[in-house]
Amino acid sequence: MSALDLPGWKHVYSGKVRDLYRPADGPADRMLVVASDRVSAFDQVLEPGIPGKGELLTRLSLWWFAQLAGADGGRPIPNHVLGLQPPAEVAGRAMVVRELDMQPIECVVRGYLTGSGWAEYQDSGTVCGIPLPAGLQNGDRLPEPIYTPAYKAPLGEHDENISFERSVDLVGAETAAALRDASLEIYRRAATLAESKGLILADTKFEFGLDADGVLTLADEVLTSDSSRYWDAEAWRTGTTPAERMASYDKQIVRDWLAGAWDKTGTPPALPDDIVERTAAKYRELLETLAG
Ligand code: ATP
Ligand code: MG
Repeated sequence: MSALDLPGWKHVYSGKVRDLYRPADGPADRMLVVASDRVSAFDQVLEPGIPGKGELLTRLSLWWFAQLAGADGGRPIPNHVLGLQPPAEVAGRAMVVRELDMQPIECVVRGYLTGSGWAEYQDSGTVCGIPLPAGLQNGDRLPEPIYTPAYKAPLGEHDENISFERSVDLVGAETAAALRDASLEIYRRAATLAESKGLILADTKFEFGLDADGVLTLADEVLTSDSSRYWDAEAWRTGTTPAERMASYDKQIVRDWLAGAWDKTGTPPALPDDIVERTAAKYRELLETLAG
């Protein structure tokens, strides 16, 4: 993938969206996380990228980290950002962070029913095994936000929804409970803040790691349009069809297009210009609406 030659840093890993670097010969406990313009859906990296997306994701994550560090009035949530300047070549789309012992759990919180949750609910009345009231529609608000962890599979494999009990087997009872409680707390705080700006935070996914002192620390990207579903609150209240109700400021535009254009075998087709432009516009609008 697109590893850069950055003075003082050596490339160590590329995920679907981010490239990770370690200091070439500096302190071993820090990393440079560079967000690219790559876009992925259904575990595929698509062509072309979304211009400006890496910077928008980075700015949105940094804004949310600051809110959750106490700017929103809540207790400070520890995060991995170090107040250090990234190299000029990647300014705006990179963060210098503390390297953490990442927990292999994707901490998903859902406040609304949609996506894979809606699909499962139609079959079984549950989401990730959690029973829900009968009669819910696609896009409905859940009685309470629910925590539905997934096992973060090694690169190239699919993440797998797991029960809370299985997360206890993977990381121990204490950490599993801490991941759940922190995830639900952060979701509630973020959803309240989003609502005050006319947005619904339908669902989101967090990743946490442990720092050198064993402190649970929020990592990766947070509450971005890649990791979350955001809807327009007014459209949700007044819309009559699922499409009208779930007017999204996130990657759903790409998912919906790909679901109709690709049979999930072979290489996915290239994203058309209008999908690229609409996605870029929605990502920009989300940042403006939230952070001003
Ligand atoms: P995968 O890791 O399966 O490729 P992904 O496609 O979501 O998943 P990216 O988001 O592109 O990956 O890459 C970011 C990677 O950096 C993730 O593996 C994430 O767990 C890891 N990461 C994020 N923050 C930290 C941190 N503070 N310390 C160590 N690793 C981190
Ligand atoms: Mg990721």
